[in-house]
Amino acid sequence: MLTRTEKRWLLTGVLSALILFLLLSLVIGRGCGACAPPPEPVAVEPAAPAPRRALPDTFPRNTHRPPRPEGRVSGSIDLATFSAGRDLVYVDDPRVWWESDHDEIDTECDHTMHRALVAPLRRLIELVDARGGTLEVHDAYRPVNVHNSRSLHKEGRAVDVTCDQMPLEELAKLCWVAGFDWVYYEARGSGPHIHCSVRRDAGTAEVAAP
Ligand SMILES: [Zn+2]
Repeated sequence: MLTRTEKRWLLTGVLSALILFLLLSLVIGRGCGACAPPPEPVAVEPAAPAPRRALPDTFPRNTHRPPRPEGRVSGSIDLATFSAGRDLVYVDDPRVWWESDHDEIDTECDHTMHRALVAPLRRLIELVDARGGTLEVHDAYRPVNVHNSRSLHKEGRAVDVTCDQMPLEELAKLCWVAGFDWVYYEARGSGPHIHCSVRRDAGTAEVAAP
C-alpha cells in the first residue's frame, strides 16, 4: 500500500508528464522556428559542363588552334602575379594515367595544376573515356627544368597529354572541343603529344567559337 505522501508524489509526476506532453505536442504541431530546414546536398565536385566547341574536321601535326601565338591567346607567363599557394590545385581521376604516379626518378607531380586548367581537363577526361580511351597526363605544373623559361607549365597553366587508343590528331580535336584556350599538336622533338593551355581567368567567360 502507498502512503499518502507517496500517492501525492506519484500524482505530481503523472501530471507533470502530461503537461510536458501537451506542451511538446503544441510545439511540434506548429513547427519549431528555431530549427533550420535540412541543408541541401552540396556537390563537392560538380560534373564537368558539356563541351562547348564543335569537333574540327582536321588538326594537322605541328599546328595549333587558334592560329595565333600562345602568349596572345592564353596570356604570357607572369611569375610576379603567380602564386603557387593560391593558384594551384591537386586533381585526381582514376580514369587517367598520370605519369608522375609511375615515375620513380623525377620529383614532379602531374596532378598539380592551375585551377583554370581543371574544367577543360575534366571535359577532356570525359570525352576520351566515352571513346574507350585512357588519357595520359605527362606534364602539368613544372616550376623548374624541362620547359623553356616562358613556358606556361611554370604557372601550371599548361598540360601535355597523349592517348594510346587514338591517333594524336583525334586527341587534339578532343582537346579543342574540351575548351582549352590554346591547343598545339606538338610533333617535333622527343615525344609527340598535345600541349594545351588556358588563360588565368579561363572558365569565367564563354569559350569563343573556333
Ligand atoms: Zn607542354
